[in-house]
Amino acid sequence: MLNQTTSAALFDRAKALIPGGVNSPVRAFRSVGGGPVFMQSAEGAWLTDVDGNRYVDFINSWGPMILGHAPAVVLDAVREALPHSLSFGAPTRREVEMAELIREMVPGVEKVRLVNSGTEACMSAIRVARGYTGRSKIIKFEGCYHGHGDAFLIAAGSGALTMGEPDSAGVTEGVALDTLTAPYNDLVAVEALIAANPNQVAALILEPVVGNMGLVPPAQGFLQSLRELCTQHGIVLIFDEVMTGFRLARGGAQELFGIKADLVTLGKIIGGGLPVGAYGGREDIMNWVAPAGKVYQAGTLSGNPLATAAGVAQLRYLHENPSIYEQLNTTTTRLADGTRQIAAELGLHYTVNQVGSMFSLFFTSEPVTNLDDAKKSDTAAFARYFHAMLERGIYLAPSQYETLFVSTAITDELVDKYLTACRESLIEAH
Ligand code: PLP
Repeated sequence: MLNQTTSAALFDRAKALIPGGVNSPVRAFRSVGGGPVFMQSAEGAWLTDVDGNRYVDFINSWGPMILGHAPAVVLDAVREALPHSLSFGAPTRREVEMAELIREMVPGVEKVRLVNSGTEACMSAIRVARGYTGRSKIIKFEGCYHGHGDAFLIAAGSGALTMGEPDSAGVTEGVALDTLTAPYNDLVAVEALIAANPNQVAALILEPVVGNMGLVPPAQGFLQSLRELCTQHGIVLIFDEVMTGFRLARGGAQELFGIKADLVTLGKIIGGGLPVGAYGGREDIMNWVAPAGKVYQAGTLSGNPLATAAGVAQLRYLHENPSIYEQLNTTTTRLADGTRQIAAELGLHYTVNQVGSMFSLFFTSEPVTNLDDAKKSDTAAFARYFHAMLERGIYLAPSQYETLFVSTAITDELVDKYLTACRESLIEAH
């Protein structure tokens, strides 16, 4: 058994001070039970917790640490920026360099605005789409997550579709009525929503590859069909690439699938581990953003000098080292294929979904193409598997409905370590 005495004591203190003891819900380990592990330090592929336990990291801060932890190229850039100022609240050279890098790497980005998180990026993108089109409603997909803006917390499922019932307390009925939802990969449902709300839909937002119900790829032709529908109906197509941007390819899912959205939202990798988000896209739409246009959006710390130093360094590194993506794909394919094979050998024909360096093991033998499929997973078995892996020094996302993220720090030896732990843990979980 791991000694997690210090983590447990800190969690007790945290629970008295912070709602649920954490500053973001999934960290609380609610769906797998037990208390969270409090971290102390990290380097490369390895995390060390406050009790001195070490784990190989397959979450990587939910995506940003694509080069593993504490990469010299990013730390050096932050060190260099540190003495100049922690924040100016005024324009800097690095913001321009960052915008240039984003425009060069991300298809369709003619103009871009930096913010502090993926949530801000998505909230702002929706507002711009509404300003630009003069329409109120948006379409999103069940099981996609676009941050905690009100409009994005609308329940999946028919209740939301027909009643506009909010998923989170505190979200108003008005917001819910303006948010239409469809099952992921269901083109017919999207067509029906558009037909039922003629000239009312401002934007369609989606994760082009979903990471927030576990990893779910788009069906063949799905993204292209959405592109055509949006063009036909004057709807702003927003690809939320907060997870997939700079991860599935330098130009994210847009590059991977060869499809251009009208707007794209970014986060995670773009900040190199510090808080940065961005939204950008077609110039005629982005020119609606203040002070160029009438859609207001601002931020005291937007374009922060340390955050942009980290972001520019990480993005530049990815730009200059395109072979990273091949390496990540190869590593992740070994992990995903190996997991699939081990499960099958044990008579567990579980579904493993993978796109690039993101993958998920679903505890169901049926294909997972949308939220309803994902919900067929045996979450109790997943919880036992999660803890068995943790005991063996493998740090997974503490929920069936999250993807894993692989970093360049995962070596062949660490893949082997993962697969050995996977076999033992699957046996233990059943
Ligand atoms: N969009 C997607 C696809 C995400 O996965 C997330 C967070 O996980 C967000 C938006 C929100 O980003 P943030 O947590 O930086 O606000």
